[in-house]
Amino acid sequence: TQRTLVLVKPDGVQRGLTGQILARIEAKGYTLAELKRVTATREVLEQHYAEHQGKPFFEPLVEFMMSGPVVAAVVEGDRVIEGFRSLAGATEPTTAAPGTIRGDLGRDWGEKVQKNLVHGSDSPESAEREIGIWFG
Ligand code: ATP
Repeated sequence: TQRTLVLVKPDGVQRGLTGQILARIEAKGYTLAELKRVTATREVLEQHYAEHQGKPFFEPLVEFMMSGPVVAAVVEGDRVIEGFRSLAGATEPTTAAPGTIRGDLGRDWGEKVQKNLVHGSDSPESAEREIGIWFG
């Protein structure tokens, strides 16, 4: 089995989509092994998004991610890293495929940061690193 770190970002929580998003994860057959609602600190986000430091969207991204609570989850299942990224859809919600979380529930809001509802780890190494950041 494998695990991944999923975040329902502040736009998802604020729009009341947490339940729908978690239901899609469970309906696919994955297990919610850990779950919590938390307002992230700048320190946590600078670690989480370390690879994006210096990019033009870094500061707007950190500000957005601190703008309200997120729901963090450790999700388990065989090939869950790929499986969740497939469920989530492409980064840009306007063009993410229908049938995906971002494609069905997201869109562009004319802002500097892509408000795209969810995050999912992109490799086993990132998953373990990110689970450490969010769940200690
Ligand atoms: P995530 O890592 O959140 O699952 P991702 O892997 O598709 O999504 P990354 O490239 O890791 O996206 O970027 C992290 C986040 O930064 C994106 O989810 C999005 O919110 C934001 N972002 C990425 N690229 C841009 C961009 N060019 N302009 C604005 N915001 C962006």
